[in-house]
Amino acid sequence: MRYNGPMIKRFHELQERVLSYYPEANIELLKKAYAVSTDAHLNQRRASNEPYITHPLSVAAILAEMKLDEISIAAGLLHDVIEDSQYTREDLARLFGQEISDIVWGVTKISKISEVDVEDAQAETLKKMIVAMTADVRVILIKLADRLHNVRTLAPLAEEKRIKIARETLEIYAPIAYRLGMGKIRDELEDIAFMHLYPEDYRRIKEEVGGRTDWALQQVESLQQRIQAMLKELKIKAEIQYRIKREISIFRKLQKQNIELENVYDLLALRVITDTVANCYVIMGAIHQQWVHIPSRWRDFITNPKSNFYQSIHTTIITREGVKFEIQIRTQEMHRNAEEGIAAHWKYKEGLAFLENDNRLQWFREMIDYHKSNPDPKEFLSLVKRDLTPNEIYVFTPKGKVVNLKAGSTPVDFAYAIHSEVGDHCKNAVVNEKLVPLRTRLSSGDVVEIVTHKDSHPSADWLRFAVTPRAKKRIMAWLQKEESAEDLERGRRLWQKVLRAYGRRLRTGFSEADIARRLRELRYDDLEAFLRDVGGGRQALDRPALRALFPEAGAVAIAPARRAAPRRGERHRLISVEGAGDTDFTFAKCCHPIKGEEIVGYVTKNRGLVVHRRDCPNVNAEIPSRLKRVSWMEAPDYTYRVKLQLLADDKPGMLSTITGVTAETGSNIKKVEIEPASQAVVRITLVFEVRDMFQLNDITGRLQALPGIYSLQRRKAAAG
Ligand code: MN
Repeated sequence: MRYNGPMIKRFHELQERVLSYYPEANIELLKKAYAVSTDAHLNQRRASNEPYITHPLSVAAILAEMKLDEISIAAGLLHDVIEDSQYTREDLARLFGQEISDIVWGVTKISKISEVDVEDAQAETLKKMIVAMTADVRVILIKLADRLHNVRTLAPLAEEKRIKIARETLEIYAPIAYRLGMGKIRDELEDIAFMHLYPEDYRRIKEEVGGRTDWALQQVESLQQRIQAMLKELKIKAEIQYRIKREISIFRKLQKQNIELENVYDLLALRVITDTVANCYVIMGAIHQQWVHIPSRWRDFITNPKSNFYQSIHTTIITREGVKFEIQIRTQEMHRNAEEGIAAHWKYKEGLAFLENDNRLQWFREMIDYHKSNPDPKEFLSLVKRDLTPNEIYVFTPKGKVVNLKAGSTPVDFAYAIHSEVGDHCKNAVVNEKLVPLRTRLSSGDVVEIVTHKDSHPSADWLRFAVTPRAKKRIMAWLQKEESAEDLERGRRLWQKVLRAYGRRLRTGFSEADIARRLRELRYDDLEAFLRDVGGGRQALDRPALRALFPEAGAVAIAPARRAAPRRGERHRLISVEGAGDTDFTFAKCCHPIKGEEIVGYVTKNRGLVVHRRDCPNVNAEIPSRLKRVSWMEAPDYTYRVKLQLLADDKPGMLSTITGVTAETGSNIKKVEIEPASQAVVRITLVFEVRDMFQLNDITGRLQALPGIYSLQRRKAAAG
């Protein structure tokens, strides 16, 4: 089934189509929209050399086939006006009112993508579509009709452009249509895109299927007759349709299951469309009585609709000749719903109010929510793409309730689908009466039971195997909450220990108001926020921090760091200096740059060129003539000495854990010192060698993740 009413070339044909389902439609509005659109696109032509107006007219015609309201159809006529002509959003608002202007603006915004990178552009498009859709779903219906007409007329475009459009259609537009339950438009978008994107596979499959068509039709027709006779006996009225599986579906099946075409057993499918739900089951029973059916292929989507509300019974039977057929049984209403989806229940008099309650939009709302909590565009794209692919599994609770999950889901996803409390306290999973690890991938038909315990909680590990956005979002929320509580606790302990270590001077004479004021200068709202950062390793509780907090005590309690002079070295091959060949230089002793850090050269009177970290406070950027642009060279076999100072719990095994972690990264440890910092806290000084910043970051990352480490500071390195 296609949106392929007769091609519309003239406005009056559109008018007739609209009046056929909507006799009281405001035709004057449509005429005006057509006139403005014609004017706006007056001298424009499509790649096919047809006048441009044929495109908006065709889009409006598709929308009329969906039986949409006059606002949508007017907006369809105008959908490219803002983007491609002098007319502005304000002009449209003045001429047609706010609603139409807003919809056209929504469509325009989606098209305006500036990203060069394909993934970025897709992420951007997708985000805009989802946002626009949750505001007014008609924006997306127009965009889908627009895309449908565009892919129908792809042929005259250059190959590169065709492929880009086809890919985007397959990866984004078709899946969105699926989510909205719009099977008809989804199928056509996919079929055309597949033809352009995989021309070889398309031809091969079409040929192979074509060679079997006669035989297949014979089989289908004989089965159809037998079912017809059966229906007559049952005195049930039903329409029977049949089809041969679409090329892209065959392609996917061949790829996924790595099988030959002969083994695609739902290559042939019959559809029985009747009037009532009860009759659907009667027909199913009769069919199962007459033919052998494959139990694992039997699905009751009437009782348990798919997440896009698709309803139907699917069953696969084997004829006496040994041919397998898939038979779908559904009511007329379910059928219309499967074809038209969200557009099926468009009631032009009720308009948007009706749609707002459509649960098919729920998925999009969840995506927006997830995006707010995790705004990384690429991750968003990959999650949405994965989620848009229609693979779903159906598993059962021990009481027989069906739970609809995405393919690849685990017991953790299942637990969160049941209830967030079940997920948050999920301990064990029993699948088909066997205890299994939580990371197990579930399959359709599994019976899943979750054992909860009040002390069981999500772990970061779960994020690696959970696949549903709902589960991922809840796990992240839990981890964040927990981490922040742990950080605060750790920060608090350290704060008290440091205060104790520095003695009375810090503890007396400073009111809480003083501390609060200075924290605000350090851009913290309160002591808790500060301690949370200290505990999480994002803020050091070291000398500079204490000096900032207690400036009056600084001179006495906190000795200033001694500055060392840079040392001349002979490492001229390690860096290159702009505008110079081999230049002798030294690494600055104040900041000790390590390969990979941003650096700058600074010319001094006595010591020649000294290389500093770019952010080193000792570089005086106000004398540009003294600055030299320098960069790292690919120099093998050189290591940089680094000194780290850690405050850690004084507990047995701590030191060996720390040196173990450092050694694991392949770093060479030169020196380890340990001294008490205060009661139960030790200061550990580590001197080791690294090749570059990557290795150093690796080490500090691992150290920070260890329990019982309070702070970690890079210090001036020992002479290397
Ligand atoms: Mn367009």
